[in-house]
Amino acid sequence: MEKTKRNRPSWDQYFLKMAMLVSERATCPRMHVGCVLVKDKQILSTGYNGSLPGQPHCYDVGCMIVENHCIRTIHAEMNALIQCAAHGTSTNGATAYVTNMPCTNCTKALIAAGVREVVVFSEYHNTKAEEFFEASNVKVRRLPMPEKLIDYDLESFSSAKIIDADKLDEEKQ
Ligand SMILES: [Zn+2]
Ligand SMILES: [Zn+2]
Repeated sequence: MEKTKRNRPSWDQYFLKMAMLVSERATCPRMHVGCVLVKDKQILSTGYNGSLPGQPHCYDVGCMIVENHCIRTIHAEMNALIQCAAHGTSTNGATAYVTNMPCTNCTKALIAAGVREVVVFSEYHNTKAEEFFEASNVKVRRLPMPEKLIDYDLESFSSAKIIDADKLDEEKQ
């Protein structure tokens, strides 16, 4: 049967779903956040909340709690901005797709980095995001959480040739 366009995501759903996928790499059990910076429908960078490179993960050594917050990780939005900084990519005029409304610090960093629009599907506690975004004319859009399922039905694609997993193991030995 020919595949229908039924499950084809919109651009917004596509980038939000990607933010969810990115969040799977988070290293702190208290929060999983994913951020995708986008400009002209191109992904500039991605980020999740994680420890500094080479430093221990909360999942392995426990959280580092200060005033009821885990402070070990760099937040997803910061990590996405840092990736752009490290690789010399301009974030001016970008849109940030984030799983959750940014915290106050990330909000300020996004605004200062020239992000003009933020798209989220959930809220975050104790954040001044709304106020700061509004004061800087950054557009905030709240959308429903996208479908969690990844729709990839290899067996249904007539052009695909499935790789035999047992054979892969043999080659590795
Ligand atoms: Zn933690
Ligand atoms: Zn943050």
